[in-house]
Amino acid sequence: VAETSAQPVEEPPSLAAPTDADPDVVVLGAGTIGLSIAWKAASAGMRVTVIDPEPGKGASWAAAGMLAPVGEVHYGEESLLALNMSSARMWPRFTNELERAAGRTIGYRRTGTLVTALDQGDRAWLEQLFEFQRSLGLDVDWLSGRRVREMEPGVTPGVSAGMFAAGDHQVDNRLLVGALLEAATSAGCTILRERATSVELEGGRVKGVRVETGDALSTLSVVLATGCWSADMQGVPREALPPVRPVKGQILRLRSKDPEGFLRRPVRGIVNGAAVYLVPRADGEVVVGSTVEEMGFDTSVTAGAVYALLRDAHRVVPGSRELELSEAIARLRPGSPDNAPVIGAARAEGAEGLVVATGHYRNGILLTPVTAETVCAILTGADPPAEVAPFTPARFQVPSWSR
Ligand SMILES: Cc1cc2nc3c(=O)[nH]c(=O)nc-3n(C[C@H](O)[C@H](O)[C@H](O)COP(=O)(O)OP(=O)(O)OC[C@H]3O[C@@H](n4cnc5c(N)ncnc54)[C@H](O)[C@@H]3O)c2cc1C
Repeated sequence: VAETSAQPVEEPPSLAAPTDADPDVVVLGAGTIGLSIAWKAASAGMRVTVIDPEPGKGASWAAAGMLAPVGEVHYGEESLLALNMSSARMWPRFTNELERAAGRTIGYRRTGTLVTALDQGDRAWLEQLFEFQRSLGLDVDWLSGRRVREMEPGVTPGVSAGMFAAGDHQVDNRLLVGALLEAATSAGCTILRERATSVELEGGRVKGVRVETGDALSTLSVVLATGCWSADMQGVPREALPPVRPVKGQILRLRSKDPEGFLRRPVRGIVNGAAVYLVPRADGEVVVGSTVEEMGFDTSVTAGAVYALLRDAHRVVPGSRELELSEAIARLRPGSPDNAPVIGAARAEGAEGLVVATGHYRNGILLTPVTAETVCAILTGADPPAEVAPFTPARFQVPSWSR
């Protein structure tokens, strides 16, 4: 009988209490959410370390960069609209500050957005949306098909009607990620290209973070901003973690040789009930998106999705057919049970010092400024903006009797 000898399990070295040399706050995840928090916190005088194996290459890399509180409004989401509008208003100042800090542009363009309907069914849907938006007091104008074509001659002659959202703008999310990395570093943040494996707690409060190599950092504050992966962090009681899931988005990048002549502003289309958008950048890139799929952590690009996006983009803007197809990728949005963000102190006792900033779903680029301001306020003991109150993790608190 073979004898089995248990291998001694190597205990990780225990964490020392933080000293003045340790970070005041460790931010897990370097998407636009984690990086903007890190930049703002460092600018406020905190010692900040950001941990991410691939900074900026998650959902924030894929996004179209639309800042579209009006176009993204949905029935029953009025309080989310207030938050989205509040963040949209922050964008001009956020852009100025960031561009100054990073010494580079982020492609923030205030052009408004056109929403188009092709057939009568799409038009009926758009009319309903328009009425809803007007009832909320939003700045939208109804357009005839002819007026749509005057504003954007590239839109198909078959367009039946449209709507103009004057306040829905765009930013180049990849320039944004680069600028945030630069600004955070210039403000003194340390960027650690590692995967965080656990948050260490002791006596019900945060004591530090452990990374894949086994190394550990002592700190009393951790911001969990690991996007759709935020529900999986080890070491934290399950009920303190935000209930987020990955929502797959496939998206294309095309390239026009005539940036001025192709489209002047983002164009969204409803084609046989399906939504498609084309977002033109100043350098000729045109972003075409996107799918919304519940596929777990799958990030494969499928022929069917590429086909459907190109087909629908072509129906709305026929000239898109001539553009070079330069990229097709898939990334994962962090979705929460109510598709709204989860921002604030962790939702359960026993995780003091843990702040959550995730669940931004389809609006994480738009919500970057308000999230950074909120988390920075929490970290420095100031009052967070009032519009964030409905979106704290506490709304998902499971009563102890039902666990
Ligand atoms: C196709 C598509 C189009 C979109 N279009 C728009 C749009 O037009 N406008 C808009 O506002 N929003 C848009 N979004 C949504 C937006 O991209 C997201 O809401 C936002 O980027 C989320 O940012 P984040 O920083 O939370 O997540 P991410 O950008 O995903 O960043 C999370 C980071 O955490 C890191 N990480 C994960 N696990 C660990 C770990 N254990 N340790 C350390 N780091 C870890 C990852 O490497 C990643 O870099 C779009 C999303 C997609 C997918």
